[in-house]
Amino acid sequence: YPGIGTWPARRRARTPDKTALVFGDESFTYREFADAADRVATLLALHGIGRGDAVAYVGENSPEFLFTLFGAARLGAVFVPVNTRLAPPEVTHVLADSGTRLVICDPELWDKVAPGIEERGITSAIPTGHGDEADPGLTRLLGEIDAGTAPVDDAGAPEDPVVYMYTSGTTGRSKGAVLTNANLTWVSLNCILDYDLLSSEVALLISPLFHAAALGMGALPLVLKGGTIVLERRFDPGRALSLIQRHGVTMLSGVPTTYQLLADHPDWAATDLASLRRLTCGGSAVPTRILDIYEARGLSFTQGYGMTETSPGHTALTAEHTRDKQGSVGLPHFFSAVRIAGDDGLPAAIGEVGEIEARGPNVFPGYLNLPEVNAGAFTDDGWFRTGDMGYLDAEGFLFIADRLKDLIISGGENIYPAEVENHLFDIEGVTGAAVIGVPDEKWGEVPWAVLTVQPGVEVSTQDVQEHLAGRIARFKIPKNVVIVDELPRTASGKVRKADLRARFGGAAA
Ligand code: ATP
Ligand code: MG
Repeated sequence: YPGIGTWPARRRARTPDKTALVFGDESFTYREFADAADRVATLLALHGIGRGDAVAYVGENSPEFLFTLFGAARLGAVFVPVNTRLAPPEVTHVLADSGTRLVICDPELWDKVAPGIEERGITSAIPTGHGDEADPGLTRLLGEIDAGTAPVDDAGAPEDPVVYMYTSGTTGRSKGAVLTNANLTWVSLNCILDYDLLSSEVALLISPLFHAAALGMGALPLVLKGGTIVLERRFDPGRALSLIQRHGVTMLSGVPTTYQLLADHPDWAATDLASLRRLTCGGSAVPTRILDIYEARGLSFTQGYGMTETSPGHTALTAEHTRDKQGSVGLPHFFSAVRIAGDDGLPAAIGEVGEIEARGPNVFPGYLNLPEVNAGAFTDDGWFRTGDMGYLDAEGFLFIADRLKDLIISGGENIYPAEVENHLFDIEGVTGAAVIGVPDEKWGEVPWAVLTVQPGVEVSTQDVQEHLAGRIARFKIPKNVVIVDELPRTASGKVRKADLRARFGGAAA
């Protein structure tokens, strides 16, 4: 079957005049979209890029991002999206680890890539945008290339790498996940099937394309199905609300914070949301509070679970199950599978918590340059060890407990920090919460809560213990509460618990 590099051209052959992409005042039909991707392929080839070569893209959402993805894929090259919030040494790591040969970069982010470009001796770098005569940008360069000169039409084998997608780095150094034509094709098919996507879809993409979710579950399925993408450079809740109304947006994807910010905006109540049919939310559990706010407007969510390594969608809880399966992340996608590892290598019983293992054509073949990690990442029979803990109910719905690495074992009892944190968020004035295990002579580990609170609010250890008493088992109640100004977070906003453990780990001994 055809690699993703051929998708725009196949769409051009079918629906050339349909709008593929809207970006601010610009709009591109599928003919224009495919022509632009062809031009990128020509330009990259002129720079000596070919099969297997890595092309890094350091930039915010823009049409150029998608043209480069498909243009690179058309050559059999590998696209490396770089998180724009990374610090320069982290960007250098990605450029070095991926073996990047050419960098495309937003001019204002140049300072982040310059050290890596120098260190790696990368000779090809192209700024995005128009640039000027002396230093032409990607858009200007593409304008100088004839459409229809694409050098190769590389159908691409299913197992060919197309994207090196770096993980969020929540549990350590970010790892380069190799995503193949097959992975990205099947994750797109899974989304189309389980989210019931139509070619009449108008999807507002407000999450960064450098994350697996917006790419694998937003842009790619939309192009495959031939829908319309309304792309935003960055997320701005007020503008997002006005775009929903202006373009009759049918589909929106995001993380819980996205939906909270939309509902908190002053324009929320007055915005006509009637066109919205599909809201998808993932990355972490969706608080009931948010479900309620949207339900009051007649809107329900499909929630999903996955990770960079699964391209990323792996399970989905469709809207009809939001209430009866509350707290679940749903069933595995149509072509994917989940099982729970029990003790002694046997599958866990229904309701028993164990490590979640994932299999399916959307599951990556392995990490770049990490043979030892790869050796431990898969079971002998080929299932990916996700590093997350969870259980299945009798109908096969998956419930996430927490990450294996964050699990606290106190006096032989397992404590899943996420459960405790959910209760901490109910305390008036608490804005952030992380529960970590701190070494303890008697219990092995005991839970501590690290909180951020609204200015002027005071929350004591005793307040927290009183709030939790009776709601959760006594051994799960934090023995100590620390208030900090800010929680250490990854570029994608997840709390780095390892940093907190390092900071407070010795404190209790
Ligand atoms: P790293 O692997 O580098 O430590 P990371 O795991 O945060 O970072 P991602 O691939 O972006 O990198 O995130 C995937 C993880 O996010 C999952 O393994 C899981 O722990 C968490 N996650 C994703 N979806 C959900 C969800 N619906 N509910 C709870 N947790 C989720
Ligand atoms: Mg991970």
